[in-house]
Amino acid sequence: MSKKTKEEETQTVQSTSSTQENSLPNNHDEFLKVHRRQIERAFNAFEVLPHVRTILSQPKNEIIVNFPVRMDTGEFRLFKGYRIQHSNIMGPYKGGIRYHHEVTLDEVKALAALMTYKCALLQVPFGGAKGGVRVNVNDVSRNELERITRRFTHDLGNNIGPEYDIPAPDMGTNSQTMVWMMDTYMNSQNMIEKNAQRRIVTGKSLTSGGSAGREKATGQGVIYAILEWAKERGFTLDGCSYIVQGFGNVGSHAAMLMSKLGAVMVGVQDHTGTLYNSEGISPRKLSDHVRSTGGVKGYKGAEVISSDEFWGIQSDICIPAALELQVDVKEAKQIKARAIFEAANGPLTDAGERILLERGVDIIPDIMANAGGVVVSYFEWIQNKRSESWQLHEIDEKLKFMMGRSYNEMRNFARQNKVDNRTAAFAVALKRINDVYAERGVFP
Ligand code: NAD
Repeated sequence: MSKKTKEEETQTVQSTSSTQENSLPNNHDEFLKVHRRQIERAFNAFEVLPHVRTILSQPKNEIIVNFPVRMDTGEFRLFKGYRIQHSNIMGPYKGGIRYHHEVTLDEVKALAALMTYKCALLQVPFGGAKGGVRVNVNDVSRNELERITRRFTHDLGNNIGPEYDIPAPDMGTNSQTMVWMMDTYMNSQNMIEKNAQRRIVTGKSLTSGGSAGREKATGQGVIYAILEWAKERGFTLDGCSYIVQGFGNVGSHAAMLMSKLGAVMVGVQDHTGTLYNSEGISPRKLSDHVRSTGGVKGYKGAEVISSDEFWGIQSDICIPAALELQVDVKEAKQIKARAIFEAANGPLTDAGERILLERGVDIIPDIMANAGGVVVSYFEWIQNKRSESWQLHEIDEKLKFMMGRSYNEMRNFARQNKVDNRTAAFAVALKRINDVYAERGVFP
């Protein structure tokens, strides 16, 4: 375990050639600053105990591991991995593992803090954590990816645990990654207790102890948030148009579920290209294409447009489901949608958000809109703990209830205190955390 130094942070552990067509500005570190300004707004809207504010300002633990992995060529490469544990006052640390070639310590710190507030807002009895490995998944083989995952898990050692810190998938990782993590962790524990360790990770495949509905959970949660919003606004989803940035786990499931409601996807962007079709793009067919080719590029049922044109596409709803800080001033001015659902974590800069709010665009923030993933992860964790297997309809019903409850708490706080939705969502979460600290105090 080590603390980050400036030097470590700027060091490039492995140089990977990026296969990205849509290249992002390198703003991964800026994200933490944006998050801090966002949470500051909530501290102004809801007064917390001074020591709670101090405690939450930094993660409890910052774990950095540099680990060697044998590549297919026989050479060894050193990879950098992070696990940031922000808070466990509400329950075990919980949060995804991101594989991305530009992931930084500050980015993971921001993502870990978001998990603390997301779980508190949704009343999921977990704290907040996040992990990351600096690797471009497009540049390594499946065997290399398995060795990277297993070695990272091994090096995290007892910094994770089924009642202590429970990872899950995030960008660049999936159910296969989680199964490798689980298997590595189980095999490094006491033989007699091996099977009790299954819930060390969530987001596993069904075959290996995952939950029904976990794969689509984040996308499904986005849809439940959209349904609540549509009910509140008297908006008809059938026939409305939407655009999606990011067509991975979250974006593709959200899109497929939107089409079941009769909504029409008119624009989509991922790291390989940007597509437009005013008549609609089939999320199901595009999903098949992405599965076989790795990206939206080359899909025949739409026109290719430049990445700059994406945000200006005429649509009713906008769903960013890729990386953070995608919508700055320029993009915010272009957006035509009347509502934005943050399926991604932190997709707006604060300047971008200000413009959208001034223009009267509804913003449903990340800790609300994309919370479906952690809610169903919680269900998976309980099922593993009790050796149960729940039906999909039970999971969907429970998820719908929890998303609706938190959506309405957020909206009530926003209306009563005349603040925006993000500030309200953070304030509702902060109140819960504050109440726990007020009762328990701080040891010793
Ligand atoms: P994923 O790896 O499955 O998909 C990521 C998508 O983003 C891909 O389509 C990729 O092409 C696209 N992308 C990457 N770089 C891009 C660029 N420069 N321009 C446009 N598109 C780009 O990841 P995911 O699990 O779907 O996660 C997406 C977002 O949702 C992330 O912000 C993640 O933190 C958030 N999220 C995920 C979950 C989950 O359960 N997986 C839960 C909550 C929030």
